[in-house]
Amino acid sequence: MRRRNFLALGGVWFDTDCGGGRTKDIVPPSPPPALRLLFGGDVMLSRHVGRIARQKQDPSWPFRELAGTLKDADIAFVNLESPFSDKGRRTEKGMVFKADPEMISGLVDAGIDVVSTSNNHARDCGSYGVTFTLEWLAKHGILAVGTGATGEIAHAGVVLERKGVRFGFLAYTYDQLNGNYTDHDPRIAVMDLDRMKQNVQSMKTRSDVIVVSMHAGTEYRRTPHKGQVEFARAAINAGARLVVGHHPHVIQTVEEYGGGLIFYSLGNLVFDQSHRRDTQRGLLAEVIFNGARLDGYYLLPVDIKLTVPRVLEPATEASG
Ligand SMILES: [Zn+2]
Repeated sequence: MRRRNFLALGGVWFDTDCGGGRTKDIVPPSPPPALRLLFGGDVMLSRHVGRIARQKQDPSWPFRELAGTLKDADIAFVNLESPFSDKGRRTEKGMVFKADPEMISGLVDAGIDVVSTSNNHARDCGSYGVTFTLEWLAKHGILAVGTGATGEIAHAGVVLERKGVRFGFLAYTYDQLNGNYTDHDPRIAVMDLDRMKQNVQSMKTRSDVIVVSMHAGTEYRRTPHKGQVEFARAAINAGARLVVGHHPHVIQTVEEYGGGLIFYSLGNLVFDQSHRRDTQRGLLAEVIFNGARLDGYYLLPVDIKLTVPRVLEPATEASG
C-alpha cells in the first residue's frame, strides 16, 4: 500500500451523547462509518485551460488524471474560480474569467459534489453569470456554496448527507469585485466574522460536521496573513471542524486548531499559471472521518502539467 503523510488527531468526538455516562444500551453500537472527503483548491476552466480542452476536443480534459481519485471520495469539493456563461465573448487572456458551459463536464466526470462559488471572480460574467453558474451547476447535480439566488441562501450553505453523517458547507470570499464593480452583490457571501459565526450557529442545527470554505490570502505567499488566521480560527471556535482555504495560488500551511483543521491554501488544482513553479503545485486534502469524528488527514501533492493536474507519488510534501 502506498504511503502518504498522515497525521492522526486526538479523539475529537463532535456529537457526543452527553448523558452523564448513563447509557442503557447493552448491545455494543456498530462502528461508525469511515468517510473520505477530498478537497481541492482553485479550479479555473477559462483562458488557456479552455483553449487546450478545445484543442483536445474534450471539455473534461483538465480532469483526465484526477477524475478517478476524486470520484472515489464520499464528498469531493473544489473552489470554482471561473463562472460559467453562455453569453459574451470567450476569455483568452486577462483576469476576467468565463468558462464555456461545456467545461462543466470535467467537474461531472470527476464526481465533484460541491463547489465554492464565492470568490473574487464570482462576478466576472456579471449578474447574469452568477445566476447562470448556479443554475448550470444545479442542472448537473453539483451543489454550489457561497452564492445563491438570495443573500440568505448564499449564507445558509448546503448540507450533504453521507452514510448518515450530515456535512454542512459554508463559503466566503475576501472580495467579490475583482476590481470591476463598486456595488455589492448580496448573493455572494463575503468574509464577515459576525455573520459567519451566525451562519455556523444556524448550520449546527442542520448538520453534524461543519466545513467552512475561505477564499482569501496574499497571492503567491506561502504563509497566511492575519485576516485568514483570524477568520479561520473564529470559524473553528464557532463550531466548524474544517476550514478549507484557497486563492493565494500557492500552498500555504496547515494548522491543527481547537480540535479542527485549517488548510490555509490548497493552491491551484486546475489553472494555467505556468509562469511559476509553485503555482503548478497544489494539494488535495483527504480528510478522514469515522462517523462525525475527525480522524486525520492526508496531503496529496498535485503537479499541474499543461493545465492537467495529477497526484504525485509518493507523497513528499506536507505543510503544517
Ligand atoms: Zn481568487
